[in-house]
Amino acid sequence: SAQIINGKQISDTIREEIKNEVAALREKGVRPGLAVVLVGEDPASQVYVRNKAKACEDLGFYSEVHRLPAETSQADLLALIERLNGQADINGILVQLPLPKHIEEKAVIDAISVAKDVDGFHPISVGNLMIGDDSLLPCTPAGVIELLKRTGNSPAGKKAVVIGRSNIVGKPVSLLLLRENATVTIAHSRTPNLPEVVREADIVVAAVGVPKLVKKDWIKPGAVVVDVGINRLDTGKLCGDVDYDEVAEVAGWITPVPGGVGPMTITMLMANTLKAAKTAHGIG
Ligand code: NAD
Repeated sequence: SAQIINGKQISDTIREEIKNEVAALREKGVRPGLAVVLVGEDPASQVYVRNKAKACEDLGFYSEVHRLPAETSQADLLALIERLNGQADINGILVQLPLPKHIEEKAVIDAISVAKDVDGFHPISVGNLMIGDDSLLPCTPAGVIELLKRTGNSPAGKKAVVIGRSNIVGKPVSLLLLRENATVTIAHSRTPNLPEVVREADIVVAAVGVPKLVKKDWIKPGAVVVDVGINRLDTGKLCGDVDYDEVAEVAGWITPVPGGVGPMTITMLMANTLKAAKTAHGIG
């Protein structure tokens, strides 16, 4: 049965690397800083924001958390972003999504300085990824690539099938796999014969949001299966987009949920903030 891709362990290793690098930078008087902005009281968002602040503290980053009331106007939010864009002690700005309905998400993302766009959602960051220029990469897709590389599953020359085409996961992870020299197929809700398409893959990335969609007979024996899905079942338990127990019988490698892709996202956010700080200070 499949080898488990331990996202928690890989994430801990990368965090240790980042922590050491931050300590060395602080010796030189440079401290990477992250600003996290939360509008409203969405419970899931509050947890994410707390975890991001905690990661900053653990790794030696400076951080600011701006908690704004749900009725904050778009103009006030944009004014805060403008201020953070100009703040020298802030290298990364993360606005926790989703935003309240009266605020236009696109206007807010567009307002973040590209140099501080640690979520990688700004259109210029997305365009840079598309054309292969250096840029801050979206965190979850970057985490998927790290998991593959750090388990010796380099995408180069492999056939990859990504299920899902969202702007935050499916599309960017497809572009990253392409950049790593995989042959990439993007499948989605209108793809006919999905099991057949997935059966061709050496690497499967599932980013769908449908619990246990991917079955054992969809998987080529020995394939690497990366499950981005985080779905909450009625029982309260989390589960991925892959039917883990049965797929693990045929796959070569598989990520569990939780403990696979999940722990990588905040770690890659920290990596992006470190990278942005180094760039801001002209450190290679
Ligand atoms: P989304 O809803 O924006 O996109 C889902 C995609 O799946 C769409 O492109 C759609 O075409 C495709 N799809 C839907 N039903 C399908 C079906 N039956 N067959 C094939 N394709 C189908 O979702 P998203 O934001 O990309 O997130 C996907 C999953 O990943 C969710 O479970 C989400 O919670 C999870 N997620 C996890 C992390 C993390 O690990 N940190 C980050 C982001 C998203």
